[in-house]
Amino acid sequence: MTASVTNQMSSLLPNTWDEEADVIIVGYGFAGSAAAIAAHDAGATVLLLEKAPEQYKGGNSRVNAQILFWPNDIEKAKTYFKALAGPYMDNISEEMVEVWATEMHANRAYLEGLGMKPVLAGGAEFPEFAGSDCVQMLVHNDKQIAGNDKSSFSLGSNDLLGGERLWNGVTEPALAARKIRTLYETAAVKLVKDDGEVVGLIAEQNGKRISIKANRAVILTCGGFENNPTMVRTYLEGLPHIYPAGTPYNTGDGITMGIDVGADLWHMSNIAGPEFFFKAPDIPVSRWINIPHQDSYLFVGNDGTRFTAEGTPCMGADRHGKTKVHGVWMQQLTPVPVYMVFDEAFRKAGSIGESFACWDVTHGNRYDWSADNLREVDKGWIKRANTIRDLAPLINLAPDVLEATVKRYNTFAKDGTDADYDRAKAYMAPLQAAPYYAMELTPSFVNTQGGPRRNKDAQIIGLDGKPIPRLYSAGELGSIYSFNYNAGGNVGECFAFGRIAGRNAAREAPLRGQAAPAAIPRPAAAKN
Ligand SMILES: Cc1cc2nc3c(=O)[nH]c(=O)nc-3n(C[C@H](O)[C@H](O)[C@H](O)COP(=O)(O)OP(=O)(O)OC[C@H]3O[C@@H](n4cnc5c(N)ncnc54)[C@H](O)[C@@H]3O)c2cc1C
Repeated sequence: MTASVTNQMSSLLPNTWDEEADVIIVGYGFAGSAAAIAAHDAGATVLLLEKAPEQYKGGNSRVNAQILFWPNDIEKAKTYFKALAGPYMDNISEEMVEVWATEMHANRAYLEGLGMKPVLAGGAEFPEFAGSDCVQMLVHNDKQIAGNDKSSFSLGSNDLLGGERLWNGVTEPALAARKIRTLYETAAVKLVKDDGEVVGLIAEQNGKRISIKANRAVILTCGGFENNPTMVRTYLEGLPHIYPAGTPYNTGDGITMGIDVGADLWHMSNIAGPEFFFKAPDIPVSRWINIPHQDSYLFVGNDGTRFTAEGTPCMGADRHGKTKVHGVWMQQLTPVPVYMVFDEAFRKAGSIGESFACWDVTHGNRYDWSADNLREVDKGWIKRANTIRDLAPLINLAPDVLEATVKRYNTFAKDGTDADYDRAKAYMAPLQAAPYYAMELTPSFVNTQGGPRRNKDAQIIGLDGKPIPRLYSAGELGSIYSFNYNAGGNVGECFAFGRIAGRNAAREAPLRGQAAPAAIPRPAAAKN
C-alpha cells in the first residue's frame, strides 16, 4: 500500500494521487457511457473505472434485452409515469418527473445521433394506464420489421431482442471514437471528501488500493445490488435467496459508498422482479424461462397450491414482478420452493430454457438447452412421472394436494375462467397428456432500482436534503422507478440521467487552479 493511500485510510486526504481527471465515472454500462460521452463532449477529461475485466465490461447494459422505452409525447409521458408510480409517487418531485419525461423523449434524437436505427418492438406494458399511448418500445436494428407495431407490450420477435445490438452498435463505438480512457479491474471502494466536497475516490486494482482525484466531480454509475445477498435480504421482502440474470459485478458498491458520505436512499424496496427463472449449477446465472406457445402448465408453491396467474416472465399477468391481487398491482409472491408443473404436450412444445438475453448468453459460456427439454430431464433438472400423484413425492409435495391443484386448474382451463387467479382464457390449457413433469423455479430479477436519491440535475442528495457537492449518479443505482416499471425504462433512464450527470459534472468549477472549459457545448439531445 502506498503512503498516500495509507494517509487516506486514516481519513486524511492523499498527499499524492495515483490518477486524476476532471470527471471520474464509476461503472461502464449505458449510464456510465452516456455520462462519459456528455462530459467529454462538454470539454472535460474523463476517466472511466470498471470493476470487471475488459471482456466482461458493459454490466447489465450489455447483456440485456436492449429495449429502449421511448415516449413520443412529453405530457403523456408525465401522466404515464405518475400512473406507474401510483401511491408510491410521494417522494418524486414534479420537476424530477418533468426532467425524466423531457430527457426520455430526447433519447431518440440523441441515440439516432450516435447511429441508432430505431425499430418499434412494442407498446406500453400497462396499456390500461393514462398516457400509455405515448409509449414506444424501440430496439436498434438495421432493418425495419414489418407488422411489429404492437400497441401493447410483447416480446415481438426474439430476433429483435438482446444480441448486444445497442451496446455494440451504438454506445461502444461512441466511446471508442472519443478515446475515453478506461481502467478495468478497478473497483471504486470509497469516496474521498474534503471540506464537504467529493474530491476523488479510492479504488482497488490488482489487489492494491489507488487514489484517484476528480478535479470536477465523481459520477456513480455502478449499478444495483443484485449480487449482494445481505442487501437483498435487508431491503427486499420474500427473497431468502435469489439468482440474478445479469452481471455478477453489481454488488451494491454505490450504495455503500453513498451511505458513507451521507447520501439519502430511495426506492430500495423496488426491483424489476421478482420473476420466476431457472438456476442450475451448470448455468452461472438464472435463466429466463420460455412458455413455448403451449399453456398446459401451472406454478405451485411449497404447499402444492397455486399462488399466481402464471405466465412468461414480464409478459401477461406478471409485469416485471408485479401482479394484480384483488384488482391492485402488488409484488409477486415467492412461496419458495416454487415448481412449474406441466404435461407432455408442454414438454414437446419447445425449449423452456433457451434464453435470448442473460449474462451467460452474452458472454459465451452459455448452456445450450435442448429443444425438446429431454436433456434437462436426463440431468434431473426436470422431474418426470406417469401420474401427477407419482410426480408429487419427487418434489416433496403431498400427492393429494398436488392432484387437487391440477384438477381444479384443469376445470378452470376447460371452462375458460380462472376463479382463483384470473389467468386469461387464451393462456390456459388443461394438463392431460402423460407423462407429467416438474421443474423448480427460482425467484430472480433483472435489476434492482434502489440507491442514493438523486435530483433533476443528477446530483446525489444527502440526508439533509441538499446535494452532496461534486457527486452525481445515473442508471439503475438510485433509479427513479418507485413501483411499477415499464420495460425499456431502465435503459432510457441510463441515457437520460447519464447525459445530465455528464454535462453537469463537466460544468463544475475545477478543484484547484484549473480553468473551466471556455464554452460548454450542449449535447444535441438537450435542445429537444
Ligand atoms: C437479462 C436482462 C434484461 C434486461 N432487459 C432490459 C431491457 O431490455 N431494457 C431496459 O431498459 N432494461 C433492461 N434490463 C435492465 C437494465 O439492463 C439495467 O437496469 C441497466 O442496463 C443498468 O445500467 P447501468 O449503466 O446503471 O448499470 P450496468 O449496465 O449494470 O453497469 C454497471 C457497471 O458498474 C460496474 N461496477 C459495479 N461496481 C463497481 C465498482 N465498485 N467500481 C467500478 N465499477 C463497478 C459493473 O461491473 C458494471 O459494468 C435488463 C436487465 C437484465 C439483467
